[in-house]
Amino acid sequence: MSDLIHDEAVALRFGPHSNTSRFVVWLTAAHGRVVTLIKGALRPKSHFLGQVDLFATSDLVYYGHGHDRVHATRECALLRPRPWLRADWRAAAAASGAADMLVKALPSDEPHPDVYAAFTALLDALARPGAAATAFHWFELRFLDLEGLQPKLQHCAACTTDLKPDVEARFSPSRGGLVCSACAARSSAPSDPVPPDVLAMLGVWQRAKSPDELAAVRHTPGQQRAMARLLGAFLRFHLNLRLAGREVAMEILDERTDG
Ligand SMILES: [Zn+2]
Repeated sequence: MSDLIHDEAVALRFGPHSNTSRFVVWLTAAHGRVVTLIKGALRPKSHFLGQVDLFATSDLVYYGHGHDRVHATRECALLRPRPWLRADWRAAAAASGAADMLVKALPSDEPHPDVYAAFTALLDALARPGAAATAFHWFELRFLDLEGLQPKLQHCAACTTDLKPDVEARFSPSRGGLVCSACAARSSAPSDPVPPDVLAMLGVWQRAKSPDELAAVRHTPGQQRAMARLLGAFLRFHLNLRLAGREVAMEILDERTDG
């Protein structure tokens, strides 16, 4: 009985299986995160050679009844290579950090078409020089939103008081976002002060429908670092994962020199 699945997919990670075969972790357009085995992928005459590339989009055909959720690949054809992710190391770091989060946080074989759209928007935005950090944090916020974990920034996450820009608020990952100073004082949950400029920046990033909307928004390295820290604490708490790929990406994206 045939159980062939045809989908568009981006390769997130490769893993060894044998001397000539390898696993590919994909984010597919319609079937979410899937793992397929490509037999003979590394043989010199394999018809898969050149058809799979990290962070490139491929046309993928696989058998959807794999043992232990590892499916056999039938066909694969490269649709959209993204050469800028080989040439720009910051863009590559941002793509790797986002892919690491998807590999760890998404359950396998569960449709996430909106996450696919956001991830491919990130990969394409990374073609623009200097966009890496901006686009990376946009993707993190978009992912949280799609997972129903959007940080609350307009109202106190505890008492729902409207937080006007002049009201002192603190950021508390465990309570889901900003809390007013009264709620922060009443609770033992850890919280950190947020400078108003960083808070405004988070709001702009959260509302942006695409990373390209943020291309013209200016910010300082210090503001970016502060936003990265707040988002890191929020992601760690809500995804309950050690995001090693994010830590590496943050080190690389924090470099002050442009390159
Ligand atoms: Zn409150």
